Amino acid sequence: MKKKKRIKGKKLETVWHLPYFGVVFDTFPGRPPIDNADVGEICLRPAYSADDVGLPTEEVTRVLENKHQCDGVGKSTLWITPQRVEAETLADTWSSNHHKPYRAADRPVMLDTALFMMFASMEPSPEGILQFAREYGNLTEGYCPILVWQEEVVAMRWALRIWECLKANNSANIRKHFRWRPFPKELREYLKNPSHAPLSNEYLYEWLTGTVGKWNYLEFDSHPDLAHGRQAKFPDKRLTETISLRCLSQEEWNRQTESLNPLAVASAYLLQVLNDRTRTYLQPRLDWKDAITLTRSFAPKHLLGRLWLQFEESITGRKEYRVCQGPGCGKSFEVSPAIARSDKLYHSESCRVRAYQARAKQTR
Ligand SMILES: [Zn+2]
Repeated sequence: MKKKKRIKGKKLETVWHLPYFGVVFDTFPGRPPIDNADVGEICLRPAYSADDVGLPTEEVTRVLENKHQCDGVGKSTLWITPQRVEAETLADTWSSNHHKPYRAADRPVMLDTALFMMFASMEPSPEGILQFAREYGNLTEGYCPILVWQEEVVAMRWALRIWECLKANNSANIRKHFRWRPFPKELREYLKNPSHAPLSNEYLYEWLTGTVGKWNYLEFDSHPDLAHGRQAKFPDKRLTETISLRCLSQEEWNRQTESLNPLAVASAYLLQVLNDRTRTYLQPRLDWKDAITLTRSFAPKHLLGRLWLQFEESITGRKEYRVCQGPGCGKSFEVSPAIARSDKLYHSESCRVRAYQARAKQTR
């Protein structure tokens, strides 16, 4: 058994309870405090090096359970995991040298080009997250809140689904996810007061003064069958997003107010999601290709950026993917002349061998 290092007198006070923000379960009290937990967030800080000392599992679990019982800080948007988070497992995962938090420079091109598909289909539970992190590292540098993992998995899953429907010209599957919703009554009253007129807020101004919306806004909802404001069952997450009118031409937007075209608003939604991620997770970069040729590209800031970039490239590059036929594998891989022959059936040599062995066993 590995001997555990403990910091004396620094047990539960390393777990902050921030009433107006989120909750931080800091399993590494030797580090400066995390002070930017967002509303409803639960942060779990990974280790930075093997010298970092983590709290033992029982302690973190007990705190999680306590928090679960006192669910509700004011009206509480607090998000509580109903599952036990194994701090020790997290510590082992992130502190060993092999699995240290992802840094862009560490793994420049090693990732499978279809990794984003695996990410989108993983279960965003603590176990699923750990499994993914063990293999590919943390999503962002330093720490990454579990909520961010969860949100990004769900966001990419829906963006991918919508892209599949757009490619197949299939509006039936996405129709119910897009609808006009009324502004909340209080907001309408507030904005009708001339002294509150949001003239400085261009978005709102367009909403209110244009032919647009008539006090309605356009929303994507991953779970339209759930009552307004209800959450999906953990670890799934309800995703709702207001679609900005900037994603459609004024003409097209006006048409949507008369009769909603699911494919048109779906493509607007996808564009918005991709633009948001591109702005936040990527940065533009110029490089000399040779002495006088300058090239432009996007550089991901972290693994999360890399995954969204893969997704974006799959769309801009019109890439094709196939599911590996290896027994029990199910991984997707890219099929293109540069990456894999177009008749390739397996994502790796070991899957090909296992399939061969399985066939041999059957015919014997
Ligand atoms: Zn495979």
